[in-house]
Formats: sequence, structure tokens, C-alpha cells
Amino acid sequence: MKITLLGAGGFVGSHLSEHLTRELGHEVLALDVTADKLGHVQGSGFEFRHVDIAQDDHGLEEAISEGDLVIDLVAYANPSLYVETPLEVFDLNFTQNLKVAHLCSRHRRRLIQYSSAEVYGKAQDGTSYIEDETDFVLGPVVKHRWIYAAAKGLLERVLHAQGLEGTIEYTIIRPFNFIGPRIDYLVVPGTMGGPRVFAHFMSALLGDGPLFLVDGGTAHRAFLHIEDANCALATILANPEAARNQAFNVGNPNNDLSVRDLAEKMKQLYEELTGRRSGSELVDVSGEAFYGPGYEDSNRLPPNVEKLGALGWEPLKNIDDTLRETMIYYLEEQAGALLEAPSQAAAV
Ligand code: UDP
Repeated sequence: MKITLLGAGGFVGSHLSEHLTRELGHEVLALDVTADKLGHVQGSGFEFRHVDIAQDDHGLEEAISEGDLVIDLVAYANPSLYVETPLEVFDLNFTQNLKVAHLCSRHRRRLIQYSSAEVYGKAQDGTSYIEDETDFVLGPVVKHRWIYAAAKGLLERVLHAQGLEGTIEYTIIRPFNFIGPRIDYLVVPGTMGGPRVFAHFMSALLGDGPLFLVDGGTAHRAFLHIEDANCALATILANPEAARNQAFNVGNPNNDLSVRDLAEKMKQLYEELTGRRSGSELVDVSGEAFYGPGYEDSNRLPPNVEKLGALGWEPLKNIDDTLRETMIYYLEEQAGALLEAPSQAAAV
């Protein structure tokens, strides 16, 4: 099958490009504004096109019409951007993705849309999030961080309505904190905002800088190894009828921990991996100081993954292996990047 992969140049796309071509034998037509993370994906069956979907409607439509199936990863998926550039976040995550949905509808292409765990918003009472039962609960408008969750959630609702009308066939994936090699860029220790939590903690450890705990580090996240995430997509591809017009949580409920526990665990793993004592200390900082006004945290619950489990998928990598393997990549390949200027990936 030929798959049009939008946002192939980001962290998830760079891993999916490899998995879809090498493991599953598909052809991939990859679109993005950057190919920096795609250097390892080469050979027949893979084609990269430099297309900005927000600027090049013709290039986008052509690519959608050429594929048998479309996977859309295009997103700004980084909380610091929700606070810094909320309108750009809305435009890319809603308006541009809606354009993709309309084009898939016009060309009768099945769409696999990556959404976000963030759509659930603020955790209410309960033990986990269940796809077709749990309410979406967002903060007030003045906490503009929620524009991302609102945009992703609205896109899901439009897809659902189009599915009811029979004008599109879609599957939604809600990723819960995928991590692995190439997840983000490193920053100078002490930097606030910027990349996601793993990259901040990795940068701090490499430079003996502070491990900032936003609002005490009490929020929880459940981390999923990117290889388990690839297998989740493979399960959805193998079950098109069961996945038709459905949303799936993709995460690892067994890998749930508080951000404070994450900092302590990464520090311990860093000391084991390097054989040297870390000079990094855990330091509390407020969310508004770290990200700016308009930030509020998502105190996330672990995902319920029984729905995708019923199709045969289960996450296999535990939290220690997930963190260790990702840390080894940064220790071996990226330590020199610590002092380079950061860049921002435009895909999840
Ligand atoms: N966080 C933190 N220190 C950092 C970076 C992030 O305590 O240096 C927190 C952040 O406030 C949130 C969690 O870590 O509670 C995960 O943030 P991330 O940026 O990875 O993305 P999210 O899961 O919110 O999309």
C-alpha cells in the first residue's frame, strides 16, 4: 500500500517512516517542512517532498490523491507553543488539519489522524481515560494553554460528524507521551519553556543543571516507547473494519509516574549509565514562571488501552527500559548538540 505521511519529519513521523517501509513493506510518500530527522530513512519505497501544507494546497492535494491512505501527524505538540503562539497552534492543529480531512473526503482516502491525550484536559475523578466515555474538561479561556486541547478536540468532533454523514472514513489516535530517540532538541541547562519534559531533564543532567519541577512536579504522565507506538499503528492498519470511525488511546498505563518521580528516576539512570555522580538538583518553579502567563497544567491520568488491546495490541516496554534507551541515544549521539541553537519541530 502507498501511504501519504503528513508531518513525516517530526519525532513520530521519523520513526513511522522507517517502520512502515522496513517492517511493514509499505511505500511512504513523506511530506514535511524539514527532513532533518529523516536521514536514516533511505532506499526504495520512501519519497520525501518538501511541502508546507499551510502554504501549498496543490502539493498537499496531489500527495493525498497519490496515496491509498493518509496519516496526518502535522501539529504543534509542545506546551510552550500553546502559551507563546496560541493562534498559530490553532491554525495548524485545527484549520490546516481540517483542510486535510476535506481533501481526504474529496479523494475518498481513509484518514488516520493523530490527535492528543490532551483532549481529555483536566483529570476528574476516575482511574483512567476511556475513549468513548470520559468527558473532556478544559480550563477557562484566559488559560490559553487549552487552545491546543480545544483545537484537537474540535477536529475530532468534526471528523466524527463527517463519519456519521458517511463523507469520510477515519481513525483517531490519542498519543500519551510517546518518547524515544529524536523526541526533541536539547537546551542549555537552566532554560525555561522550549521542549518537552524529557529533553529538559536530559539537558539538565548532561550539564549538571537544575531539574525544574513545574508546580511541584505533581502532575502525572504515562510514557510510551516509540516502538510500542509504531506497533499500535500497525495494529490499526491491520484492522481497518474495527478501526473505522473510531478513536483509540495509545499509551502505557503501566508507565505512569509523577514528574517528580520522573526527575528522580532519570537522575538515577543517568548515574548508572555514565558512572558519574550527577550535580543536578530538583528545583520547584511555578508554571507561569516556566512557560509564561496562560499556562495551566494537565494533571493527566493514565490511559485505558483496552479498546486497542481488543485488537491485539499491548505496550511491551517498561518505564526503565523506555527511559534508558532514550537516554542512551542522547548520551551517544546528541550530547554535542547541547550548546546548539534550538529549533522547533512542526510535527508530533
Ligand atoms: N515539566 C517540568 N519540568 C520541565 C518541563 C516540563 O516539570 O522542565 C512538566 C510540565 O509542567 C508537565 C509535564 O512536565 O506537567 C509534561 O510536560 P511536557 O512538556 O513533556 O508535555 P505534556 O505532557 O504536558 O504535553
